Amino acid sequence: MQIDEKLEPILAQVLSRNAGEAEFHQAVREVLESLGRVIAKHPDWAEDALIERICEPERQIIFRVPWVDDSGQVQINRGFRVQFNSALGPYKGGLRFHPSVNLGIIKFLGFEQTFKNGLTGMPIGGGKGGSDFNPRGRSDGEVMRFCQSFMTELHRHLGEYTDVPAGDIGVGGREIGYMFGQYKRLTNRYEAGVLTGKGLVYGGSRARREATGYGAVYFVERMLGSRGQDLAGRRAVVSGSGNVAIYTIEKLQQLGALVVACSDSNGYVVDEAGIDLELVKEVKEVRRARISEYAELKGAGAEYVEGGSIWDVPCEIAMPSATQNELTGKDAKTLVGNGVVVVGEGANMPSTPEAVRIFQEAGVLFAPGKAANAGGVATSALEMQQNASRDSWSFDQTEARLAHIMRGIHDLCAETAEEYGAPGDYVLGANIAGFVRVAEAMRAFGVI
Ligand code: GLU
Repeated sequence: MQIDEKLEPILAQVLSRNAGEAEFHQAVREVLESLGRVIAKHPDWAEDALIERICEPERQIIFRVPWVDDSGQVQINRGFRVQFNSALGPYKGGLRFHPSVNLGIIKFLGFEQTFKNGLTGMPIGGGKGGSDFNPRGRSDGEVMRFCQSFMTELHRHLGEYTDVPAGDIGVGGREIGYMFGQYKRLTNRYEAGVLTGKGLVYGGSRARREATGYGAVYFVERMLGSRGQDLAGRRAVVSGSGNVAIYTIEKLQQLGALVVACSDSNGYVVDEAGIDLELVKEVKEVRRARISEYAELKGAGAEYVEGGSIWDVPCEIAMPSATQNELTGKDAKTLVGNGVVVVGEGANMPSTPEAVRIFQEAGVLFAPGKAANAGGVATSALEMQQNASRDSWSFDQTEARLAHIMRGIHDLCAETAEEYGAPGDYVLGANIAGFVRVAEAMRAFGVI
């Protein structure tokens, strides 16, 4: 899509001010492409450099993380927290531990998070953080010492009314536990609402672990439902095999879809009888091993393909749930050629701009990550709510709230797309609806 000429100088300024941050550029361009219609309708929303302010993080923190490995060597990593926007509530967003992490990646994620969190309708601003630490192959003790050192610096920037991190790639329940323990020890405060994704016994929420994956499937189900279709009996492919992928597969299976493939960064497995989810959980969550072990343990019927693209596997439902830009234009063409009906993004920005364009031109139902994967952070907000009221809800109650929120996000995106003259364009609907909420709050605050 073209950028409106009034927005061109804004984009140019963001690109030059944030040189070399390709993912951040991509995320900003994608949102600005949708905003031409907004400023055509509300010219005053381009006043007072509102859009420029929304593209500039409120605060960016970069810090040293020293820790001692098992051989007694001192290791150094770099820690980040980008407090992107607090118009709607305390900064909220995950921590990612992965060797690819750099400032540009965290800024793209924080920018996306700001609109995603706006879409949920919950009182949460946008932020993101993490480190270039690679947990793969590290012992439990090393992961603990890293998490403690990371939190020793980060804790001064957090607080239940200030900034509330959670997990993301490389950060699950174990890491949140180590970080919460260290926060509690450093501050001498049992401030449960300072982190989400916690274990159940120390203030976590039921259904938080499942929420991103379940939520993405609810979104896709609602999309299909609005066209009189459903998931039952359809072939699905879910990339990744982490937390998002696992619970996406679980909910797809519960709703009667046949999930035939999943992956990790080394390769993918195809199991025509349907992915055995208990085995995936055993391999990934218990053994913390590679997905190739799935095929080794399963034996006949399961095939492991090293390298290659999981999107070569024909399916009607594609749910990219691994990482950014994992689904290329070439993959999109293959999927369209194989008859894909719906693409629901479980990861953040997993489809390249070219891939999105190909899906949309082919009339494929396309659910962008900032809407489809918002169930995780929405349930984090429910966790904060339970912490604030010192309450603990049942699984059913929490899941029902999640399902209701996802249906609401779907309908908001669909209605917004319609209102702005692009029915069925969920990218436009999500970008505009998220922006409008953040923009309204910022306009109320004046120039800050
Ligand atoms: N990392 C997740 C996301 O991308 C969840 C963030 C949270 O729960 O704060 O939305």
